[in-house]
Amino acid sequence: MNEETEVIIVGGGPVGLMLAAELRLGGVSTVVLERADAPAGHPRALGLHARTLEQLALRGLQEPFLATGVRVPSWHFGFLRERLDLTRLDSPYPFMLAFPQDRTEAILEQRALELGARVLRGVAVTGLTQDADGVRVSVDGGPDRRAAWVVGADGAGSTVRRSAGIGFPGTDADTYAYLGDVRADAPPVPGYGVQNEKGALIVAPVPGGLLRFTGYDPEHQDAGRRELTLDELREITTRIGGADFGLRDPAWLSRFGNATRVAARYREGRVLLAGDAAHMHFPAGGVGLNLGLQDAMNLGWKLADVVSGWAGDDLLDTYHDERHPWAEDVAEHTLAQTALITATSPTGQALRRLLGRLIDRLPDLSLVLARRLAGLDVHYGKEGELAGSRVAEAGDALLDGRPAELVVEGRPVMVRPDGYVGSLIG
Ligand SMILES: Cc1cc2nc3c(=O)[nH]c(=O)nc-3n(C[C@H](O)[C@H](O)[C@H](O)COP(=O)(O)OP(=O)(O)OC[C@H]3O[C@@H](n4cnc5c(N)ncnc54)[C@H](O)[C@@H]3O)c2cc1C
Repeated sequence: MNEETEVIIVGGGPVGLMLAAELRLGGVSTVVLERADAPAGHPRALGLHARTLEQLALRGLQEPFLATGVRVPSWHFGFLRERLDLTRLDSPYPFMLAFPQDRTEAILEQRALELGARVLRGVAVTGLTQDADGVRVSVDGGPDRRAAWVVGADGAGSTVRRSAGIGFPGTDADTYAYLGDVRADAPPVPGYGVQNEKGALIVAPVPGGLLRFTGYDPEHQDAGRRELTLDELREITTRIGGADFGLRDPAWLSRFGNATRVAARYREGRVLLAGDAAHMHFPAGGVGLNLGLQDAMNLGWKLADVVSGWAGDDLLDTYHDERHPWAEDVAEHTLAQTALITATSPTGQALRRLLGRLIDRLPDLSLVLARRLAGLDVHYGKEGELAGSRVAEAGDALLDGRPAELVVEGRPVMVRPDGYVGSLIG
């Protein structure tokens, strides 16, 4: 058995890698066990929202993202034609940053490695058991490993969650979406999207000159888990969007469902969950990755403080208390958007027209929905109180000079109601 580390993170996706870097900032020895031999060759998520960019900026990490990401000033809600205006967000980042998930993962992996985390690929975890002092992790074809703490960042099908006996209540998939990253000889205009009585289709650019054609096709719901073919994708876009757009050379064809679940507990003893292992939902709105990265920011410093003896382990219970309600919130938000995307009946179409007109005529409604999508409403204390609010709301003093340097280093900073901002530990 290998007793090589204080924390094992199972899963080297974006959330596991972000968490590994956070733990290393706190001086914790960290090993990431990743089943895949190499990173996936295609991006799943295509964007980062304002709150995530704010959190990356707290660690001085925003530049590589902002340097090449495309700033998108508006976003859809449930594929409605009337867009949410993101330029009114009260954030230094009033936009959605188009940035592919595989590049996000590459940046986060490099950072985790530079900070001293070990990332072991081709290591599949098959189960775990815990006792009072630590957790024993079993690995397919290799010796068991042991750590004081284990975090499951191993995605929606999490082995860690199952082995720890944590329930995953929610609803099964009853709707399936199609997705094709392809080349198009006759592409639609940028920003193209349609939702009508035949289904839904939205098109977004993907790096490498590809376009992502994705949406909802009521005629292929029976085929939920069956592979999508290029011919089927052409037939779908022709039926729903009126053209096959000269689709060819698929790089990725997929279907995915709208199963919606949130883990009953984010902590079971010495085992914690983060990212998709803790919550899954339809990717409507493009928030899953963002939600997971924000989990990592919340959990990282807490676990580091517990491991290094600065805090008692009850601090880790606040991770569940703070993050679980926001996963429930995103799950509900996403279910609502799914209802709009799949609203092909005359009644559904009428509801979409009504909501679209309201978004158009009521800028404050647009702002409420945009803030929720961007994660700017997330707070952990009582509404209006400084404790538990976003750093941006704590005032600019925190973002300048020595306090800002401390935050970048992951060190604690004291903010007093009288405006004093300074180091907590000298
Ligand atoms: C089509 C699609 C589009 C999306 N678009 C967006 C978007 O625009 N915006 C957004 O925010 N989100 C989006 N998402 C969601 C986003 O991709 C996920 O929320 C995100 O990948 C979650 O990251 P994670 O690290 O928690 O999990 P994952 O990315 O699933 O990573 C988990 C890792 O754990 C590894 N693993 C699994 N089991 C084991 C094991 N037993 N042992 C060792 N390793 C293991 C896996 O190989 C994987 O690398 C989209 C999802 C899909 C499917």
